[in-house]
Amino acid sequence: MRHGPARRAAPIAAVLTLCLSALLAIAGCGSSQERPSIVVTTNILGDVVQNLVGDNAEVHVLMKPNADPHSFGVSAQEAGYMETADLIVANGLGLEEGLAANLDNARSQDVPVLEVGEHIDPLEYSSGSSSGTEDPHFWTDPGRMIEAVDVIEERLDEELDPGAMDRIRDSASSYRGELEQLDRDVAETLSEVPADRRKLVTNHHVFGYLADRFDYEVVGAVIPSGTTLAAPSAADLNDLSETIRANDVPAIFVDSSQQQKLADVLADEAGVDVEVIPLYSESLTEPEQDAGDYISMQEINAARIADGLTGQRPSD
Ligand SMILES: [Zn+2]
Repeated sequence: MRHGPARRAAPIAAVLTLCLSALLAIAGCGSSQERPSIVVTTNILGDVVQNLVGDNAEVHVLMKPNADPHSFGVSAQEAGYMETADLIVANGLGLEEGLAANLDNARSQDVPVLEVGEHIDPLEYSSGSSSGTEDPHFWTDPGRMIEAVDVIEERLDEELDPGAMDRIRDSASSYRGELEQLDRDVAETLSEVPADRRKLVTNHHVFGYLADRFDYEVVGAVIPSGTTLAAPSAADLNDLSETIRANDVPAIFVDSSQQQKLADVLADEAGVDVEVIPLYSESLTEPEQDAGDYISMQEINAARIADGLTGQRPSD
C-alpha cells in the first residue's frame, strides 16, 4: 500500500527539506521573488552591496551605468521596488537629489532606509557654493568605503535572518580585504606625484575625500559647487583659468561623461590650454567597460591622476 507513494514521497521530502533550509537561510524557497529585496540607489554602493550579499538577497540598483548620481530618477516600476523593499541602501548627504521624494515616500511607508554617508565621518566642503555643507562623495576615499562596508554589514544584520548573515559576514570580510589592498595601491600610486604638484582641478567638487586622505589639494572646479546641477558663471570660469595658471596645473580632471562639454567650455570661454583627462568620478560604467566595479574605478582614477600631474600621457 505504501510502496507507490513512498517512492514519490522521497524526492518531495528532499525538496521540502531543501526549502526549509532555504527558508531558514534566506526566508525563501529558491524563488528569487521570495528572497529579501534590497534596493540600492547608486551603482557604486550597488557593487558594494552585491559583493556582500551575493545571492542571499535580490539587489535592485536604481542608478544606471554612466549616469549622474545628482540627477537620475526612477521609473514607476523602480519606485514600486522602493516602496516594497526590505531595505534601501542610499548614499545620502544630499547626493541623490532626483530621488529625494521617492526616499521620503518609502520612509513614510516604514521601509528601512540606510543612508551610509552620515555614518562615515563626513567632511564639509571648504569652498564654492556648497561651502559648509556635507560632501557626499565619500567613495573617493577607499578607507571610508571600508567603513561603509562595516555600516552596511551591521544594518544587514538587523534586517536579514541569521543564516544568511553567516554567509554575508564571510563575503564582507573577504571584500574588506580587497578594499584594504585597494587603499594601499591607491596610496602608492598617488604618492608618485611630488608634493608641490598635488593640485586637483575637477569638473565639480568631487574629490575632497581623496584629497583629504592622500594629501592632495583641491584648488578649483569648473562648477564651483558640490553638485553637477549648478552651472558655472563667466566669473567662475575666469577664476578657474586664473587658478590653473597661478598653480601651473598641467591637467584637469572631469567626469568621463562630461569631458567634451567641459573642454569646449574651457577652450571657448576661458581660453585655457590644459589637458582635460576623463575620470570615472561619480558612476560605474557598463560591466565590460573600464570601470565596471568600484575597485577598478578607483585604480584607474588614481593612475590617471598620477600620470596627468606628472606630465605623462593618461593611461587607458
Ligand atoms: Zn558629484
